[in-house]
Amino acid sequence: MGDYVVRCAGCMSKLPLHALTCPLDGSLPRAEYSSVQLKPRALPGIWKFHDWLPVTGIIEGAGEGSVTYKSTGLAAALDLDNLYISFSGYWPERNARMRTCSFKGLEAPPTMQRKREMDDKSTMVVASAGNTARAFAEVASITGQKLVLVVPESAISRLWVTVEPGPVIVVGVDGDYYQAIEIADRLTSCPGYLPEGGARNIARRDGMGTVMLQAALAMRCLPHHYFQAVGSGTGGISAWEAAMRLVGDGRFGRNLPRLHLAQNLPNAPIYYAWTGKEPGPVSQVMYDDVLFNRRPPYSVAGGVKDALEATDGRVYGVTDWEAAMAKALYEESEGIDILNAPAVAIAALVQAVESRLVSKDDIILLNITGGGVARLKEEMDIVALKCDIVVSDPEELMNFMEGRA
Ligand SMILES: *Cc1c(COP(=O)(O)O)cnc(C)c1O
Repeated sequence: MGDYVVRCAGCMSKLPLHALTCPLDGSLPRAEYSSVQLKPRALPGIWKFHDWLPVTGIIEGAGEGSVTYKSTGLAAALDLDNLYISFSGYWPERNARMRTCSFKGLEAPPTMQRKREMDDKSTMVVASAGNTARAFAEVASITGQKLVLVVPESAISRLWVTVEPGPVIVVGVDGDYYQAIEIADRLTSCPGYLPEGGARNIARRDGMGTVMLQAALAMRCLPHHYFQAVGSGTGGISAWEAAMRLVGDGRFGRNLPRLHLAQNLPNAPIYYAWTGKEPGPVSQVMYDDVLFNRRPPYSVAGGVKDALEATDGRVYGVTDWEAAMAKALYEESEGIDILNAPAVAIAALVQAVESRLVSKDDIILLNITGGGVARLKEEMDIVALKCDIVVSDPEELMNFMEGRA
């Protein structure tokens, strides 16, 4: 189970199992699993894909997976015959029970399980614009693992759990996501703290890759097109890697799906890098700030650029207005509330249909990366996490942590 080696995506040299970077060329590490075929196990949620996750055990009570269904509502509105939707969130009528309501809930359980298996007593540190922090808080509360979350103060309202809160410290940052990352980096440079690694962590990527695995099982083939809203682009890399494994399996088709990645203008570095367009000035307000990462893993080997090149991909720039229209269209035609980020992916699909980049009978997978928060609140009590301290620079956080130790 979960038998694998880790290789550098650039030079292919074998790396230590827990490497976050190749010491030779700085490229992304990638898991190479000994199982070549996908054999779903009789385990709950994402653990079903155990052979292609870098863990040996599972976390009971965590790890709900995405669901895939064939769209009728949105498909009719866009005149598409084979539109499939991957939904990560809470929508019990469709059997979607991810209580943290975003696909970050696919990354956190394998990452925390892997940490348990490392037998490492250090505290996990996660910098996040909100959704990742919520997903990790839920898992840490279930397992009792220590966790420090570093989030912009404006995102604290996104932090809640549906279980008894565990040993989680919440640090609000008087600044944006980028400043939260810098402050978290300072903390993880100290002994006793472990960075979760973001896109460099194979457990995060392969957890997200279960979206493609789950969809391929439901559709019985790989899609022609994959649409997703991206900030760091980690989900795009994960979809590409999962698709390569499915091609290797041999039963799901021979062609990699084309990646269609969507960013919210004007804070869209991946869009500007890929299209070569001149970046506009950064905007302080965004339709969805979870989609802004100033340092996406773009040109690193095994990163976003490689994923786009390998799949003959496209990157879309979406305005706030297009995203708002797309969100309304989806919610009306499909009947569930969604987060703002996936609306950006829907708007990209609308653009692709209008410019005939996809055809009516193409098999399309649209990743609705988060939704069902309103639906969840109808039937579950959520516990808001309170902020333990607000800091504006790394030293303030270091003093606070020393005071607690
Ligand atoms: C994080 C996030 C994204 C973007 O994910 P990437 O890491 O850039 O692939 C999209 N949608 C939601 C809801 C998210 O939380």
